[in-house]
Amino acid sequence: MGGHLSVDNLSAEETEELCQLTGFSSEQIRNLYTRFKHLDRDNSGTISSEEFISVPELAMNPLITRIIALFDENFTDHINFRDFCFTLSVFRPSGNREAKLRAAFQIYDLDNDGFIGREELYEVVKLMTGSYIDDKQLWKIVDKTIEEADTIDRDGKISLEEFSLVLKNTDLHKRLSVNF
Ligand code: CA
Ligand code: CA
Repeated sequence: MGGHLSVDNLSAEETEELCQLTGFSSEQIRNLYTRFKHLDRDNSGTISSEEFISVPELAMNPLITRIIALFDENFTDHINFRDFCFTLSVFRPSGNREAKLRAAFQIYDLDNDGFIGREELYEVVKLMTGSYIDDKQLWKIVDKTIEEADTIDRDGKISLEEFSLVLKNTDLHKRLSVNF
């Protein structure tokens, strides 16, 4: 670990190391690198949230800031190629189910305390639905969802364990997979 990635190109060594760490093929790593460089408009070697949002398809996504947070674990606002590969590797079709689940959970857990609370669920659902649903109805949905999901300890918030129970019988794994 800790190899420095140059801005202009990826050495065979670096490619090899990333393949081993992420499970991507070297061709996939090279493709990802091309995409990464495309996103890195100012050529700084990292992607800022501003650069992320400049991609129209991503800017349209209401959860964009949450997705960026997934990549940017330390909230530095600078995503390097390594973080980029690691985060995307979670969504490989053959990627680990637990890791996918954790990524989905993180999208909702805004304050990163390991629980999805009532307010957090409200915020995310609101982001996803825009202004189509009025507040009263939104809170109803939130409360119902919490009630149905909070099955283990009934503490009014959703833990990762409870979250995983809810999603156990869905095709989450397939839905959270991206073909590269
Ligand atoms: Ca939380
Ligand atoms: Ca709970």
